[in-house]
Amino acid sequence: MNKPGKILIVDDEPANVRLLERILELSGFDQFVSTSDARQAVDLFQVFQPDLILTDLHMPHLDGFGVMAKIRALTGPQTYLPIVVLTADITPEMRRRALEAGATDFLVKPFDHMEVVLRIRNLLETRSPHVQLQQQNATLEERVRDRTSRLEEALSELKATQQQVIQQERFRALGTMAGGIAHDFNNALASILGYSELLLHSSDKSPEKITTYARTIVTAASDAARMVARLREFSRPATNSEFVQALNLNELVEEAVTLTLPKWKTGALASGLTIEIRTELGNIPPVQGDPAELREALFNLIFNAVDAMPAGGTIRIQTMVQGEGVRLEFSDNGTGMTEEVRQRCLEPYFTTKGNRGTGLGLAMVYGIIHRHAGKLEIQSQPGHGTTFNIDLSGCSHVPLASVPSQRKLERPLHILVVDDQPLLCQLLRESLSKDLHTVETAANGREALEKYRTGCYDLVLTDKAMPEMDSDQLAVAIRKLKPTQPIILLTGYGERAQEASPGTSAVDLVLGKPLSLGTLRQALVDVVAA
Ligand code: ADP
Ligand code: MG
Repeated sequence: MNKPGKILIVDDEPANVRLLERILELSGFDQFVSTSDARQAVDLFQVFQPDLILTDLHMPHLDGFGVMAKIRALTGPQTYLPIVVLTADITPEMRRRALEAGATDFLVKPFDHMEVVLRIRNLLETRSPHVQLQQQNATLEERVRDRTSRLEEALSELKATQQQVIQQERFRALGTMAGGIAHDFNNALASILGYSELLLHSSDKSPEKITTYARTIVTAASDAARMVARLREFSRPATNSEFVQALNLNELVEEAVTLTLPKWKTGALASGLTIEIRTELGNIPPVQGDPAELREALFNLIFNAVDAMPAGGTIRIQTMVQGEGVRLEFSDNGTGMTEEVRQRCLEPYFTTKGNRGTGLGLAMVYGIIHRHAGKLEIQSQPGHGTTFNIDLSGCSHVPLASVPSQRKLERPLHILVVDDQPLLCQLLRESLSKDLHTVETAANGREALEKYRTGCYDLVLTDKAMPEMDSDQLAVAIRKLKPTQPIILLTGYGERAQEASPGTSAVDLVLGKPLSLGTLRQALVDVVAA
């Protein structure tokens, strides 16, 4: 048999207690504790932790029911702890109550020695596997705790490593970016230094030479300044005044597709391939955002997709409701990206296109989405194309119908820029061609008029003060040729754009310099799409 268990005896009759002790001793049980004061039973139970309890039912201070109730309350329902009730006379009613209180078995006084021993043995044998199980459970729990704590340790180690990896990635991104900036800046500095030295040391100090050198220096310095502006653009935090507009994202998509037509359709066709853009625009609530920025993000995605489809292919742009917001799914079936490229493609200056790429496109996209409190997710596989998922928050409280319909350009414009400063001409040309407009430039009014006669322009953008023919004279001359010709005047004198008062000027709008890209874009819409 199993090792004899520990037994607790509770009976207010000392004679009974002694008798039971005797019976137990004779049968080889040597671990028992007894009391004739039932009030001590619970304390003894807790200290001694018996495997079996023998208790009388009728006792002063605390009867057997009380003892059982207290002990059962301590052990809980999971534990198999046999309690044997000792009683002289037991009515069926009493028996039922005792069972209810947690009694396992009964021994009737006077005791039959043999029966006492056999019942106790049986009950202890039944308890034994329960105890084993409990011990196993305890060990198991201990092991689980141990494993868990080791797992937690491993996890926190992993987190630390991950943090390190992220930190390293950041450094690498910073390195790529610093490298790119350094490269661009060095180019600018090389020109500035080179021409400054020429200015200082050249024997030819004629005013023309000096002007030429100084102009080159200014160009290089402006290049560098524009670089900084570009960098600032995608790290710029959103200001509060931004995003007051509710936008129709579907319209923006259609607009971006139209405006980029020259790149994806005409350009591709010219090189003998077909690129198709399929749009599936869902019934979506308006989104809050900056239309110019989101358009620019779309431009960049389209340009990249075209680059990724050297043999032609299909771009799919879908919009749909996603939770509280709106999702734009942009995918191409081009070359796709390796996992390494996918992870790095958002880094500023990261490009796989060598000199053809700037590596700023997706950094810009990311900056824009980030400023819109949106989310950008990229899936890509080499050979299987790329999908950009962009989640933006909707403003569902504004019903789409009430969104003011935005005026927009139907297509890129053909623009004549007139300025006697070549640098400004170039700047405008660059800014405008970024939005896919095509630009011709003229250095003065006379040249402008000549070009105007032979070309067909959607817009004339002219500086105010120019040699030979000032802008007013130019505007008047142009309007004579075509009275409805949209004309914007750039002036260095006024800071703010103003609607030209009819009659006083032949132009549609006066814009102050310096000019931000946003103002310029808005002006084009105001004047041409009016
Ligand atoms: P750039 O186009 O000047 O290289 P971007 O920041 O726009 O810079 O893109 C970074 C890089 O991400 C690209 O050089 C290219 O490797 C990868 N990439 C971006 N878009 C796609 C695309 N749609 N399919 C495959 N690769 C892409
Ligand atoms: Mg790009």
